[in-house]
Amino acid sequence: MPVVSPLSHRRVDLIPSTTGIVSAVAPGSLAAELGIAAGDRIVSINGNPLLDAIDFQFNAQSEQVSFEVEHQGIIVRHDLELEGDEFWGITFGDPTFDGVRICENACPFCFIKQIPKGMRKSLYVMDDDFRYSMLYGAFVTLTNLDEADWQRIEREKISPMHVSVHATNPELRVALVGNPKGAQVLEDLARLERAGIDFHAQLVMVPGVNDGDELDRSLEDLSQFKRLLSIAAVPVGLTRYGLERQSKQVRLSRTCMRTLPGKQISVRRYEKDEALAVVEQAERWQARFRVERGETFFHLGDEYYLMCDLPVPTADHYDGYPQIEDGIGITRHLLENLDGMIRRTRPGSLAGATGTIACATLIGPTMIEAVDRFNAHTGAELDVAVVENQFFGTEINVSGLLTGEDLIARLSDHPGNGPVYISNRMVSDRTHTLLDDLPVSEVSERLGRDVVPCGLMSDVARDIRSRIRARSTILMASA
Ligand code: SF4
Repeated sequence: MPVVSPLSHRRVDLIPSTTGIVSAVAPGSLAAELGIAAGDRIVSINGNPLLDAIDFQFNAQSEQVSFEVEHQGIIVRHDLELEGDEFWGITFGDPTFDGVRICENACPFCFIKQIPKGMRKSLYVMDDDFRYSMLYGAFVTLTNLDEADWQRIEREKISPMHVSVHATNPELRVALVGNPKGAQVLEDLARLERAGIDFHAQLVMVPGVNDGDELDRSLEDLSQFKRLLSIAAVPVGLTRYGLERQSKQVRLSRTCMRTLPGKQISVRRYEKDEALAVVEQAERWQARFRVERGETFFHLGDEYYLMCDLPVPTADHYDGYPQIEDGIGITRHLLENLDGMIRRTRPGSLAGATGTIACATLIGPTMIEAVDRFNAHTGAELDVAVVENQFFGTEINVSGLLTGEDLIARLSDHPGNGPVYISNRMVSDRTHTLLDDLPVSEVSERLGRDVVPCGLMSDVARDIRSRIRARSTILMASA
């Protein structure tokens, strides 16, 4: 449950029990030279307690740095004279020592409101923390920033930021974030621009609400910003729990009702013809941006293409995949990686290897073709299990939202053998659990097969190779 942080006096969740704990130190770094090790605690820097990892980075770049570190229960003080551009090499276990700042919004499409109880705890954190935006690419709305936050962003050049814009029409933005402060989005972006902060923008698209003319307006308004690095539009997701809430007429956002009289926002999924209209509209803007900015600049979530049975755009369309962390272009990235892996791998080198790739329905046909090519080149005998999302509803069709129970239900009587390869987007790096809080190890135990999270086909090939090597080592040892 959110509480007020004693450090920052802001509403936060997930306050770490001990702050400033170092989780890793890079070899050859200044921290390693000073003898700082994982498990140590950074107590203060230049006499001040720290709020987060960014605070440390900023203050530790001065020419004179004095800081205290707790090492095996003893506080050691270091006074250093530095060049001012040091590689400290410190990773903190919890990068924000005062917890994770939570949002003050009520978006009508909020995914967190659409999930049932009993899932992975971190899923319920309604984070809207500008520090996570810079550190991990989390999208923020900027509606919970006060003047002190803004001054800190400007002073410490906290960049790049990732901003959930949704629409630039002030009334519509207010409705889409469920917060009157949402109206000033263009002023907020202009302030980032003046401060020299780079940023990416995201638009969660609700059919008939912020597409069409509103999308044209948003793209026109956003195109004025020089510091804006990319824009991505993704279709809204609606789980079966979200649909149930709607059918019970739970008001997902009162603000929506208040600020758009006569135009009540109703959140629903895209139909194929509506998705196609968005793709065509996007292509017009992309052609313009290629002339004006020399890049595609405005990208659509893969769902739009896959939903319309269109091929996903080629790799050069994606400008180096600026929003891949958010899944934009991930299908092309997967296919590109497969091409590279095939070029680098000797034909037949994985002959006889078995395993199953489990994926969701949207990517299913693409994955089946990809695995056929993988097998034809390497000699492996992988198969694909396309898994329907029974947990959130079958309309939720992306692999990252499959749960452990979905995998177990689909694969329990699946005839394949060898490891089951799943998307690493299904699994929390920190807890190694799936969305329904089932540990990967438990899914593996219940299936009687290793379950291996992978990002790309080259990860699958690497895992197969390491199994072949391990087998031949055992055979040699027993010979
Ligand atoms: S910003 Fe909106 S979508 Fe994100 S957690 Fe808050 S209410 Fe939900």
